[in-house]
Parts: sequence; C-alpha cells; structure tokens
Amino acid sequence: MEKTSVVNEIRTAVASLCASYGEDYWRELDAQRGYPTEFVDEMVQSGFLNVLIPEQYGGSGLGLIEACAVLEEINRCGAHAGACHAQMYVMGTVLKHGSEEQKQRYLPDIASGVLRLQSFGVTEPSTGTDTTNLKTTATRQGGHYRINGQKVWISRVQHSDLMVMLARTTPREQCKKKTEGMSAFIVDLRDAIDNGLSVQPIDAMINHHACELFFDDLKVPYENLLGEEGQGFRVVLDGMNAERILIGAECIGDAKYFIEKAAAYANEREVFGRPIGSNQGIQFPLAKAYAQMQAANLMVERAANLFDAGEACGSEANMAKMLAADASWQAGDAAMQTHGGFAFSREYHLERKFRETRLYQIAPISTNLILSYIAERELGLPRSF
Ligand SMILES: Cc1cc2nc3c(=O)[nH]c(=O)nc-3n(C[C@H](O)[C@H](O)[C@H](O)COP(=O)(O)OP(=O)(O)OC[C@H]3O[C@@H](n4cnc5c(N)ncnc54)[C@H](O)[C@@H]3O)c2cc1C
Repeated sequence: MEKTSVVNEIRTAVASLCASYGEDYWRELDAQRGYPTEFVDEMVQSGFLNVLIPEQYGGSGLGLIEACAVLEEINRCGAHAGACHAQMYVMGTVLKHGSEEQKQRYLPDIASGVLRLQSFGVTEPSTGTDTTNLKTTATRQGGHYRINGQKVWISRVQHSDLMVMLARTTPREQCKKKTEGMSAFIVDLRDAIDNGLSVQPIDAMINHHACELFFDDLKVPYENLLGEEGQGFRVVLDGMNAERILIGAECIGDAKYFIEKAAAYANEREVFGRPIGSNQGIQFPLAKAYAQMQAANLMVERAANLFDAGEACGSEANMAKMLAADASWQAGDAAMQTHGGFAFSREYHLERKFRETRLYQIAPISTNLILSYIAERELGLPRSF
C-alpha cells in the first residue's frame, strides 16, 4: 500500500478511537489530575503506539512519518498525546542501542502491552539544560550499579514499568570531553520504586504526571546498561531527534485543533447581527495561523522523512519542533481571541489545550537552545555556552 494511504488510514482509525474519549473525558482527567489508563491501553492494543517497533519484535515496523500521524491525530481530536508519546521515542533508544538480549527481553512485551516504557529521565534540578553537568551518579559494584542523585520533571513515572535514564559513571573532570562519562540505564520501576527510588509528583500547570525522583543507592543490574558505559549521552541524544519530530507532529495536531475549532465558532457566533468570522480582524489571525501551521508541517514531514531514510536530521528535527511549537502557540492565541470570554470557560476546552501547548516552547528543549543549535550548526557562529 502507498505511504500516503497508510497515513490516511492511520489518521481515520486514530480519530475513530479518540471519538470514544471525548473532550469531557480529558477535561475531567485534567481537573482530577488523572491518567488516561483506558485510552493508553486501547492505543497500545490497537497497535498505534507500536508502529515504530519492528515486526520481528511484535510491532508494525512502520516509520516516523506514520508515528507522527498517530500523535498529530490524537492532539487534533482534542486529546493529549503527552500521556503516551514517550512509548514511541524511548523505545527507539532501546532499539538503536540495546543488545539483542535487551531487545528480546523488552520489545515484544512493550509491543503487546505487557510492559509500559513511558519514562525518560534526564533533567535534574541543579543542572537544567546543561545536561553534561548532571549530578546523578552510577557506580559499578560487581554485577550491578548503585545510582544516587535526583531528577526533576520526569513524566509518567507512576504510569510506566520501565524508565530509560542518564547518570554519570565517570566524573566530568576525568573525561576528555564533557559529553563522555555518562551512561544510560533501563530502570525497572516496578522493582525500583520504594526500593532505592522515591517519587514525588509535581503540582503543575498541566496534567503531565511529572515527578521529582530521588535515588538513594538504587541497585540496577549490569545487564540494564544501555549501550556502552560512558557513551550514554550519545544514546539519549539519538532518541532526542525522534522525540523532537514527534512533538512537532503533536504541535501540528494542536494547531489544527485550534484552527478548526475557531473557524467553526467564527462562522456560528453572531455579534452585531452577523457572524464574527465575517470581520477581517477575526479572519486574518486564523488565516495566518493556518499558513504557519502548513509551513511548519512541511518541516515536520521533511525531518521525519530524513529520519526514516537514516539520514542526519539534527537541524531539521530542531527546526520542526520549534516552528510547529510556534505555530500551535499562535493558533492557540488566535483561537482564544476568536472565542472571546468563552475561551476562558473550561467547558469549551480551549483553555486546557492552550495550557498544554505552551509546554512545547520549553520542553523537551526550549526555543533558545534550538536557536543556538541552528546558529552554531547551520550558520557557523561561535558556540554561545
Ligand atoms: C511538564 C513537563 C514535563 C517534562 N518531562 C520531562 C521528562 O519526562 N524527562 C526529562 O528528562 N525532562 C522533562 N522535562 C524537563 C524539560 O525537558 C526541561 O524543563 C527543559 O529542557 C528546560 O530545562 P530547565 O527547566 O532546566 O530550564 P533551564 O535550563 O533552567 O533554562 C531556563 C531558561 O533559560 C534559557 N537558557 C538556559 N541556558 C541558556 C543559554 N545558554 N542561552 C539562552 N537561553 C538559555 C532556557 O532556554 C529557558 O528558557 C519536563 C518539563 C515539564 C515542564
């Protein structure tokens, strides 16, 4: 079957699944800070979160283009892909850097829904974006490592069985390069929580299930080292391009949601005896948001195609994420303005989506860091930090 028809079929099927979980479902979860367990289970059982897992490990062996279609459609329907997106890109890290034994151990169970791999632990409270300066350590002791330190803003830890995390195995001052000396691990959260790992949920602006993690001599078996010891930065970096492109697709979904919703409202809401959509002051911001969304979408597709072809796509992945996040934010702003006072009513769902889409200016990487990447890599300007 042709790629576009597969993508179209995926969109239709995801939209049909999302229709059973209407916007009130997401509004209630947001109010209660609940997790959409049944939605995520159904997404896994329907095969949508497993599109990137090769067929030999029980997945459907499709590419990032198809994975983007899944996440974009979830967000376009008013749902929140942030509840489940990590299953896609964290799995990619295991696929690319895991040993054959690790792939056999985890991937078929992730594909079938027996195991949830929804957590990725990098950010720390005192280092922020300066990842190579992270303070969490892993010390080898015979057949295992002892992990000590702290992480912050780690999403879905309480709704995942596994977490891929980064810790320093050699002190930074003993390494030739600051990017060396860190290692990636697969942590089995079922064993770890309350057994060397304590988890503190963060009361946050959006329902993202983010937590603070405290590692106190957490024992992780040697066989859970992912990739080579000391090369963990490279391991997590490889997963980050996929993450940026997938998040870009979610932003495109948000932008479409805002634009479709606002256009419908502008056609139907009458003030001064005519639809507000007949005013250019209402039309133009929506038309502009539409054009920005389409342009950003081209960059998301370009980055995903390069990724699927196995080509370098660092700049495209970063630009896709930044342009799509800007497009969704602009579209959200235009939709809020179009709805006037009703934009603030939770019943209209816009305010939730507006809060949710704001995240993507900051996470998984903030706009400034993307701009410095482009300045350095594409324009040859001096590194600014
Ligand atoms: C809801 C939520 C969920 C998250 N989930 C996860 C997760 O699952 N796993 C995970 O590892 N992390 C997660 N994060 C963390 C997220 O990736 C970071 O918050 C993000 O990368 C920014 O890091 P920081 O918060 O430490 O900001 P900081 O690094 O403290 O930066 C603060 C501001 O300063 C700017 N800045 C910093 N340095 C420079 C510079 N040199 N030049 C210009 N500007 C600069 C940044 O752009 C930013 O705007 C999550 C965050 C949130 C809010």
